[in-house]
Amino acid sequence: MAATFAFAESRDGTLRKVAFEAVTAARQAAEASGGGEVHALVMGAPGVAAHADALGRYGADLVVAVEHPGLERYNPEALAATAADRIRAGGYRAAFFAASAQGRDLAPRAAARLGVSLASDVTDFEIKGDAVLARHPAYTGKVIVTLRLTGAPAVLSLRPGAITAVEQPRTARLEQVAPAMDPAAARVVVSETSQRSGAKLDLGEASVIVSGGRGLRTAENFKLVEDLAAAFGNAAVGATRAVTDDGWRPSTDQIGQTGRVVSPDLYVALGISGAIQHLAGMRTAKTIVAINKDKDAPIFKIADYGIVGDLFEVVPRLTEEVRKARSGH
Ligand SMILES: Cc1cc2nc3c(=O)[nH]c(=O)nc-3n(C[C@H](O)[C@H](O)[C@H](O)COP(=O)(O)OP(=O)(O)OC[C@H]3O[C@@H](n4cnc5c(N)ncnc54)[C@H](O)[C@@H]3O)c2cc1C
Repeated sequence: MAATFAFAESRDGTLRKVAFEAVTAARQAAEASGGGEVHALVMGAPGVAAHADALGRYGADLVVAVEHPGLERYNPEALAATAADRIRAGGYRAAFFAASAQGRDLAPRAAARLGVSLASDVTDFEIKGDAVLARHPAYTGKVIVTLRLTGAPAVLSLRPGAITAVEQPRTARLEQVAPAMDPAAARVVVSETSQRSGAKLDLGEASVIVSGGRGLRTAENFKLVEDLAAAFGNAAVGATRAVTDDGWRPSTDQIGQTGRVVSPDLYVALGISGAIQHLAGMRTAKTIVAINKDKDAPIFKIADYGIVGDLFEVVPRLTEEVRKARSGH
């Protein structure tokens, strides 16, 4: 029975949440095809093989670890060459990557090397006979396209957060191999990665996102958004383009068609009208809560819970309630 492949993305020696989502998806695909092993590939600087147990916890039967000092930073050519070699040799039915910034670069490179079909930004998939059906939103989320991928392996990149990582413990075997290409021979080298000082949780990693729109009126009022995010614990702060264009928040916080596309468990929209371009970036969130003083705001059409009211009154009270609920008082 053919095995299924998952690329376990890491950064700075740490596995990213999307790594567990890819392994979970591979496990689902394996079960839907009547069983078969899940093989996870993890690449990075020496030490990255230590993640084998964690990947086993999410359902990997075999962890292929590629450790090399030249892989401390993202090395697209070496990673693509190694992933493609491994996928070719493994005879896999399907190969899962994340549609993260790294995965959106890597998955097409690997698929092109293999000469196989690729579905990007997938939010849902199913195994149907010999084919893999992959669904992904298109036209700013107005339609869901179903792609039928035939031939093996089907390469899929998964929208971060679309698949919920589930622990399905296995005792993973570990295999350590060398990269298929010397990282030093790469033509594209990431020489530096600079992070904004005080950078908080990445929007793609956050299970809760609290976002603010023009209804906040000023940059200073974003304190309300930050306080609510802090009350949730590990929540990230997002914004609409109206807000980032006005310089109230950095452009990296922008969610939408021309910003980040996210699928958190919970998305709280404060003073956001729900323009189609914003919805394109967050409509696949699992639960959407909107607070808007206009009962006809389009955001309410996709919200699971809505509060029609003045955010300046509602949000401080909501923040207090969330704080109390989390502290158990
Ligand atoms: C090509 C293109 C790409 C774009 N890409 C993006 C993108 O990636 N992301 C994005 O977000 N936008 C994008 N936009 C812009 C988008 O069309 C909207 O203009 C933008 O999303 C509106 O932001 P907003 O909801 O913050 O502001 P508004 O539309 O002005 O809405 C503000 C909302 O706040 C509510 N409000 C006001 N005061 C209060 C209060 N006291 N309490 C509660 N509610 C209140 C109002 O009722 C209103 O609904 C794009 C536009 C174009 C043309």
